[in-house]
Amino acid sequence: MTASSASAPDRLQAVLKALQPVMGERISTAPSVREEHSHGEAMNASNLPEAVVFAESTQDVATVLRHCHEWRVPVVAFGAGTSVEGHVVPPEQAISLDLSRMTAIVELNAEDLDCRVQAGITRQTLNVEIRDTGLFFPVDPGGEATIGGMCATRASGTAAVRYGTMKENVLGLTVVLATGEIIRTG
Ligand SMILES: Cc1cc2nc3c(=O)[nH]c(=O)nc-3n(C[C@H](O)[C@H](O)[C@H](O)COP(=O)(O)OP(=O)(O)OC[C@H]3O[C@@H](n4cnc5c(N)ncnc54)[C@H](O)[C@@H]3O)c2cc1C
Repeated sequence: MTASSASAPDRLQAVLKALQPVMGERISTAPSVREEHSHGEAMNASNLPEAVVFAESTQDVATVLRHCHEWRVPVVAFGAGTSVEGHVVPPEQAISLDLSRMTAIVELNAEDLDCRVQAGITRQTLNVEIRDTGLFFPVDPGGEATIGGMCATRASGTAAVRYGTMKENVLGLTVVLATGEIIRTG
């Protein structure tokens, strides 16, 4: 079977089979988990992903994207699902890639006024964690959004006039391309 000759359901099964040894129980096809990942905060947009995969590292993300790219299976990243324009709604025969377990603060450099975080940490959690330094992360889109989701939507919010949007506050990114290649920006 090849990606160009196989049907969409067969390609999806090929990806899940390839991911099973690496991701194991971090692949879920439970109806409740699929339902949670079928929509954001938009009122009328939803569609079930066939499976939800929970990434815990950049390498996990790269592995999922590499297999999805190889088998031409659609994959949609999922942070906190607070976006309001249907961004997280998967197409048919797709995988939802959940980043919400990637919550580490990798580096905190108070004197440089910066930090490095994983994509799934929420802005509220980040602010609680750095409160003792006297610093805060100012972009506030209202919902309990993840930093990765906020980067993807270039979030703004109530403090944007004074402190800027994500564009002004993000110094660099580790990006996994659709092929699974990992690049650094900034
Ligand atoms: C009450 C309310 C008020 C809001 N007000 C504002 C506002 O004032 N300004 C504003 O900008 N937004 C606002 N929003 C929208 C929302 O909070 C933002 O779009 C936020 O940036 C989404 O973050 P999230 O973690 O929920 O991302 P999700 O909704 O999970 O995902 C959003 C998009 O980012 C992609 N994505 C998620 N994580 C990653 C990742 N790690 N890497 C790559 N792509 C990723 C998803 O595939 C999707 O396309 C509001 C939402 C609500 C519910």
